Amino acid sequence: MFKKGTKSYSIFNNKCPRCQNGDFYLDKNPLHLKKILDIHEKCNTCDLHYMIEPSFYHGAMYVSYGLSVATSIAIVIIATLLGFSLITSFIAVFVGLIVFTPFMLKLSRIIYINMFVSYVKDFKNEDSDS
Ligand SMILES: [Zn+2]
Repeated sequence: MFKKGTKSYSIFNNKCPRCQNGDFYLDKNPLHLKKILDIHEKCNTCDLHYMIEPSFYHGAMYVSYGLSVATSIAIVIIATLLGFSLITSFIAVFVGLIVFTPFMLKLSRIIYINMFVSYVKDFKNEDSDS
């Protein structure tokens, strides 16, 4: 599942979606909040520009929304199985979303670029205009 060449390898190892060698985020740790969304300008191995077009990552908010809903549903299911009341479940979702927001922010951008860029085995940079 996390083998090189799969999207999940790129997403969970902070790697370039095309060559899967260069890093995507400047800082892997989602708890360093000041640098949470700083990405490299381009891949240091295959020269893929991570900002594919202006405002490219605005679309990542839809991915982030999906991750938030999935997290909320998971928390409600766990709270229900543990016998929490409705108001306690609501508080658990609220706290859970605050705790997981840095992780979801990081994941949403790299998931979003992986939706548009596919892995190319042994990528050779042949166009010199980039
Ligand atoms: Zn690359």
